[in-house]
Amino acid sequence: MTSPATVTIPAQQLKISHTPDVVVIGGGATGIAAAIAAARNGASTLLIEQRGYLGGMGTAALVPAFCPYTDGEKPVIRGIGLDLLDKMKRAAGPDFLQRYEQLLDWVPIDVETLKRVYDAEVLASGAQVLFHTVADQVLLDGDRISGLVISNKSGRSVVQAKLYIDASGDADLAALSGVPFQVGGENGELQPGTMCYVVTGADKNRFEQFVQETGMHPQLESLVTFAQQNGELPEGRKRISGMAWISNSVVGFNFGHIFNIDGTKAEDLTRAAMEGRQLIEKQIRFLKKYVPGFENIFLVHSGDQIGIRETRRIQGDYTLVVEDFLSMRTFEDDIARNSYFIDIHLANANSTMTIKHLPKGKSHGVPYRCMLPQGKSNLIVAGRSVSSDRPVQGSLRVMPNCFAMGEAAGVAASMASSAGVGFREISIPDLQRRLITQGAYLGDNPGIADADREVAVGAVSFEEEC
Ligand SMILES: Cc1cc2nc3c(=O)[nH]c(=O)nc-3n(C[C@H](O)[C@H](O)[C@H](O)COP(=O)(O)OP(=O)(O)OC[C@H]3O[C@@H](n4cnc5c(N)ncnc54)[C@H](O)[C@@H]3O)c2cc1C
Repeated sequence: MTSPATVTIPAQQLKISHTPDVVVIGGGATGIAAAIAAARNGASTLLIEQRGYLGGMGTAALVPAFCPYTDGEKPVIRGIGLDLLDKMKRAAGPDFLQRYEQLLDWVPIDVETLKRVYDAEVLASGAQVLFHTVADQVLLDGDRISGLVISNKSGRSVVQAKLYIDASGDADLAALSGVPFQVGGENGELQPGTMCYVVTGADKNRFEQFVQETGMHPQLESLVTFAQQNGELPEGRKRISGMAWISNSVVGFNFGHIFNIDGTKAEDLTRAAMEGRQLIEKQIRFLKKYVPGFENIFLVHSGDQIGIRETRRIQGDYTLVVEDFLSMRTFEDDIARNSYFIDIHLANANSTMTIKHLPKGKSHGVPYRCMLPQGKSNLIVAGRSVSSDRPVQGSLRVMPNCFAMGEAAGVAASMASSAGVGFREISIPDLQRRLITQGAYLGDNPGIADADREVAVGAVSFEEEC
């Protein structure tokens, strides 16, 4: 159905609708933290999001839990990200709080509560939000972005900001600006997508009793394999990871894969949405038939879109590589620490997961230069598309890390804005000092005073993947 023909559309005169100091594209974990940080640090800030709510994969795709904030001993993700986690727990009500107050790793997501917490915190920071708006064109002036074309129900208009933060998860702005990037592995392989969902009517006590009595792993590996062997579930992931108990009866699932999806292609996203919903139907049948505690479940909601783990990785001033991860390297320009494991999901039904943990209590640095796209002076890219190799992307991509990178991008943008300079001209020690003062953790490396605080580390009974 694709046509090779093209048309030239007439030049348009567009209204300049917004002139903030800082514009953030994308209201996922990265963009939320970036907007809050930029606004709190004094920059007039506009956050643009194509949906009608914030949260990105964590709300739109119903990713059911937050990955670990800790290195197994202490939280390494602090600052805005940790505060938002804490606020969601408190806003979710006494039952949720009692169950998860001490936990910092794999905390389930109460989606509707989280959306409201994000709204409130972004607004309280002073940032302005524009929903239902897509950024789809950049105007360039040498190495600078001079404007961003946005489209929404009000029409098309231009945002003229001093600084641009790309938190689209897909490096959309960077790609539109001509920044070089890579997608997936050497042979074009990509992590699969997952259509996550939420069910009600489960019985947690009955499920736990079953697991205890049978000695079965809570991820039900033997049952999944059995159902795959007799054709009730498709081949692929051998376990249910990401079963998140939001209450005793409401459960979020991140179960199964949809392969060969490029999240920057509308056709692939469309196919994945439909295949994902079909897969959910099979999984619900499986759960009802084989898993005690799930006999009476009812599907409440599937993701508004398929969950996407991997698309573009920009070419930045520094590319973080697996050797940096394994050697737990510290950089002079660190703006965050990462301790999440390399978690690369199988690219097709016959391949395997790639998992690599750091030792407990260990982490590596995330340098500021990974967020600086080559050839652009007033653009920064934060989140899962920063400059890294594929294994490191498989680790950096999770929401706690995205909060930390977003926070650093936001503080950097506010500094660049007030000094009237680009992202490369700010003082890195000053940026680090500000991040630490505002609660971020940059490790215990010499020269960087750690703003330590007492935070309980929650126990995890088994290792998840996401
Ligand atoms: C199935 C799955 C399970 C996962 N499980 C976990 C887990 O258990 N725990 C965890 O912490 N992480 C998990 N992750 C990873 C994590 O959810 C994502 O990597 C993370 O949310 C990325 O955050 P982000 O803000 O960079 O991007 P996103 O969450 O993708 O947010 C980007 C936002 O930008 C908006 N946007 C994009 N382009 C434009 C545009 N041009 N104009 C306007 N708006 C735009 C999007 O609508 C979206 O809201 C999982 C991911 C997947 C796919």
